[in-house]
Formats: sequence, structure tokens, C-alpha cells
Amino acid sequence: MPSLKYQPGEKVMGRWPGSSLYYEVKVLGFDSKSRLYTVIYKDGTELELKEQDIISYLSFQARTRSRSNSRSPGRRRSRSRSPARTTRRSSSRTAAAASAAITESAPSSHGDAKLKRAPEVKLSPLPQEKKPTENSSNNKHEKKEENNTASKEIQPDAKAEADPEKNLGRYNLRRRKDDGEAKAAEAKTEQQVKEAKPSAALAVTGPTPASPRLDFGGKIGAFFWTLFLPAWVLFLLLQVNRKDPSLANFPPPLPPLQSFWDPQALGFVVLWILFQALLYVLPVGKLSEGVLLRSGRRLKYRTNGFFAVLVSAAVVAAAVYQGADLTYIHSHFLQLTTASFLIAMLLSIYLYVRSRSTSPDERALGGNSGNMIYDFFKGRELNPRIKEFDLKFFCEMRPGLIGWCLINFAMALAEMKQQKLDAPSSSMILVNVFQLLYVVDGLWNEEAILTTMDLMHDGFGYMLAFGDLVWVPFTYTLQAHYLVSHPNPLSLPVLSAIVILKLVGFYIFRKSNSEKNAFRRNPSDPSLSHLKTIPTATGKSLLVSGWWGVVRHPNYLGDLIMALAWSLPCGFSHILPWFYMIYFIILLVHRDSRDMNECRRKYGSAWDEYCRTVRYRIIPRVY
Ligand code: NDP
Repeated sequence: MPSLKYQPGEKVMGRWPGSSLYYEVKVLGFDSKSRLYTVIYKDGTELELKEQDIISYLSFQARTRSRSNSRSPGRRRSRSRSPARTTRRSSSRTAAAASAAITESAPSSHGDAKLKRAPEVKLSPLPQEKKPTENSSNNKHEKKEENNTASKEIQPDAKAEADPEKNLGRYNLRRRKDDGEAKAAEAKTEQQVKEAKPSAALAVTGPTPASPRLDFGGKIGAFFWTLFLPAWVLFLLLQVNRKDPSLANFPPPLPPLQSFWDPQALGFVVLWILFQALLYVLPVGKLSEGVLLRSGRRLKYRTNGFFAVLVSAAVVAAAVYQGADLTYIHSHFLQLTTASFLIAMLLSIYLYVRSRSTSPDERALGGNSGNMIYDFFKGRELNPRIKEFDLKFFCEMRPGLIGWCLINFAMALAEMKQQKLDAPSSSMILVNVFQLLYVVDGLWNEEAILTTMDLMHDGFGYMLAFGDLVWVPFTYTLQAHYLVSHPNPLSLPVLSAIVILKLVGFYIFRKSNSEKNAFRRNPSDPSLSHLKTIPTATGKSLLVSGWWGVVRHPNYLGDLIMALAWSLPCGFSHILPWFYMIYFIILLVHRDSRDMNECRRKYGSAWDEYCRTVRYRIIPRVY
């Protein structure tokens, strides 16, 4: 590796994008491919900077000294009214990271005078080069924003001094509320840099270093969830088959051990996964580009999910026509679940083992705590691939999701058989149609998954493998499973109300997801030109009107309304079919918190501003 000019952990002066101001920053890492340094500012904002935007601390001070020495007394007087000084005096009021960086930029050992002078130095503006973000090309909104900012920012001292508050406001550089958290993250990064071997430390790249906090209750939590989730799935499956599945009838009797295992069921699950894999690799459909990775690369994904669901439906229909009895799925549900669990576990072990030979920039930042159980659970490698076959993308979108519809369909047939009906009940039809619509929509808009948290941030490990292959197909089908032996006839008005609810939820869900996806893919999309945005220091902007101006997660709101519409057809006799609704509320609130933390860390004060503008998280005026 060529020797680096600035080392991880080194204190340097970094230019704030779009300005000629330099602040004290700490180097976190260097990406050899994009040739960018990741640095952290005093307010916790992390950015990637080019080498020419960084100056060593000592030479910055030397330039400061030489400039200040050469300045006339008159000029010095004028500088005494500089924004830096003004805000330094008012720093107790808040806030500006600028002022924070300014007042804290030099160690006291260098003397107070130097400390005060340092930030006032303006170096000759360098040509602006936008860091390569996903928006770097063809970005009208952001270019407009940048041009505005740049033209405002690079100004003579006098003009800037005339209105210091305005000047700072323009940069949007308030100190983050979670300053303590930022410092903790910084301290942790420093510790990690110290502990890591030099080569590894240098390779820690990207805008986000190892996550400072462990999700899911940390190491103990990960251990707990690894064991608890399969046990919970087992409980749901045993309970749903009981005549009285109420909680008062707890616990369900445990079936004999040998009834869990059936090699034929394993064969069917393997066959299903291989069939979906075959459809995935067929050169049919679009090759979509993923988001920009820390390595500076973009991966390509075969987004032919809609084709896969159509072919799957045709094959299943042909099999039923040929006399295949799909009620096997209902009668062998436990064995099929066990088989899927086994596959998910083996896959997770494989993923963990192979992640050991990956480079740091191929790993998810949240799944590399160093604790084996936590990393196994959370997933270490961001995009594990066997040649072009993307394991995470495939598992997220294909066998479990399409399997969910297959199982629902099998439950409808089982209901007809068990209840001796000529056609499925209206409740069963609603559940089947609603969930089929959800899955087909997801596969039609498959490209949109590329900008979700799972694809962008989470490593592929037990959490996702189990979720994709076991949790989704075997618990999301609980409503249809419940209706097989617990009929719930619906009157026409109730049925109509549920359909309207579903359509409202779907509309919000689809519109908001499409709006954000379109914006992230092409911020200059003319259809989005009416939307207001907030610029962030990373080069990306945040939508602050449209759906993303109603609440901070409008897509979760739509999802919750739909989840309600899925449970209502099952009635209120038991809590079991409401499991999905309850789980979903917990899931989305947890996901929302994770995302809030992640975005606050990514976007610093711009995120705080977004949160002040859009006050509610998921439900307007409630939460
Ligand atoms: P989102 O699709 O909401 O993605 C969150 C990301 O969007 C943030 O990290 C940020 O990333 C970006 N973002 C946030 N606010 C803004 C803004 N104002 N302007 C522009 N970009 C913004 O999260 P998920 O991946 O959790 O959800 C995706 C979909 O999947 C949702 O509809 C969700 O309901 C659904 N879902 C369904 C599940 C199920 O089991 N049925 C489970 C989980 C999710 P950045 O800025 O880096 O682009």
C-alpha cells in the first residue's frame, strides 16, 4: 500500500465543503480506491475529503502565523469583528459547529492567541470538486443548492463579517444535540484505530466508521434473539393449529421430536430455493445499479422479480392442474419450517466463515463488533456474492417473499378442504389478495429495495437469513393459516371498509417509497422539482416536503395501515392473527429509531434541522 500523507487518528485541518474555511478534524480512514479520506469534525459530522482539501495541522498554523504577521493593524481590527469572534463570544448560546470547531480547534498548549487566530485564516479557494456520492451526476437540485452555497460561502471577509449569524446559519453548522454520543463515537474510533493493525486501520473507509452502538441489546441480546426467534416461530405454529389458540390455552403441547424432521420436506424447500435461484440468474429483465459503496463501486443486480413471480405462479398452477396437492404445505408446515430453519442456519454459518476473508470495506459497519455471536447475528459482509449471484438480494426478494404467496394459496386450498367449501372464504380471499398485492408490488418495484436499509447498511448474517427464509414465509402467513381452522365471515360493509383501508395504506406506502427512491436515484428528476430539500454536508439532500414532509417515515405509516387491513379479516376472537400487527409496530418503531440514529450520524446538524421541520416520525400528530 502506498504510504499515506495523513494517518488514521491524526489531527489535521479539513476544508468544509463549498467553503474556504478549514476546521480541525480527525482522520478516520482512507479509501484507496476512491482516494478519499474519511474525517470527523468536532460536531461529529463525518465527511470524505480529497487530499488537497486537507492541510497538516502544523503547516496550517505556519500559514496562519505568516498571514497574520503580514496583516496590517487596520486589517486586524476588521478581523476582530469576524464571524468567528462573534460566535465565539456567543458560543454558550449554542452551537455552531463552526464556532465549536473554531474555539476548540487548537490545543491550549499552542497558546490562546494562536487558538483565536487559526480559524480566521482564509486560504485561497480551491476549485470545488464534489465528492462522489450517488447524486454526483446530473444533480440539478443539489447543484443548484451547491452553487448557491458556494457563491454565498466564498466571499470576501468583509461581507462575511457583516452578518456573522447569517453566515453561520447558511452553513447550517450547529453543534449536534448528541455531542456526547459523537465524542463517544470518536473516542471509540480512536481506540479502534489504535488497536487495529496498521494495514487494517488504513483500510477502514467510508463515511461511517464502525457503529458506536450495538443494536438488539448488544452481545447478550444477539445471543438471546438467535435462540428466541426460532422458539417463537415454533410457538406460533403450534398455537395456530389449536382449536382454541387463545393465550389462556398456553403453552401448546410439544410434539415428539421426530415429527419436526421430514427429508421430503427438506427436499421441497431445497427445490424451491434452487428454482428461484434459476429464475434469478436467467438473463431476463433489467440489470439495475445499486447505491455507491464505500469502496467507490456500484454493484449490478438482476431485477427480474416480477418475471420470477409470474413464472412461479404459472408453474404452481400447472402443478395443481396436474394433481399436485398443495395442502401438503399446511399438513407439513412444521417440517417445512424446520427444513427452512436448517438452511438459514447453514447459510448463516457459511456467511460468517466467508466474511473472515473479506476486506474491511466489504463489511457492514454495524456487524463488525469483534464479538463472534453479535457479528454472526448481525452479519458482517455487506454484499456477499458468489460470482455475480448476490446472496442477500436473492434471499431478501425471492424464496421467502414468493414463498409467502405460495403458502397463502396453499392455506386457501386447505381451508376449502377443511371447511368443505367450494371456494375460499371472503376473509381468506382478502388476506390472499392483499398480501399478494404487497409482494407483487415489491417485486415490480424491485429496484427500490436497493435504497433500503437492509441492502445499503445491514450485513448478511443470521438476522436477515432467518428473517428472509423462515420468519417471512412462516409467520407472515399466520393470518391465512389461522383462517384455515377459524372461519370469520365478513359482512359487505365491513369487507368494503377493509378494502378501502388497504388501498389507502398501499397508496401512502407506494407513493412515499417511490418518491424517495426516485429522488435518491436522480435528484434532478423533473417530476420532483416542486419538492423542497435541505442540503447536507455529505452532498446528498433530504426531502422536506411531499410525503417526506408529512412524517419522517411515511412509508412506515402506509405499511402499518396495510398491516391493520391484513389482520381485520381475521376478526377479534383471538390475539394470534394480530401478531403480525403487533410485531410490525415494534419492528417499525425499532427500525425508525435505528434509522434516526444512523441519519443523525450521517447528516449531523442537517438531520436535526429536518427533525425540527418534520416533527412526527410515523403517525402525524401522534408519534
Ligand atoms: P427507508 O426506505 O425509509 O429508508 C431509510 C433511508 O431513507 C434513510 O436511511 C435515508 O437514507 C433515507 N431518508 C430518510 N429520510 C429522508 C428524506 N427526508 N429524504 C431523502 N431520503 C431520506 O427504510 P427501510 O429500508 O426500513 O424501509 C423500506 C420499505 O420496506 C418501507 O416501506 C418499509 O415499510 C418496508 N419494510 C417492510 C418490512 C416488512 O417486513 N414488511 C420490513 C422492513 C421494511 P439515505 O439518506 O442514506 O438515502
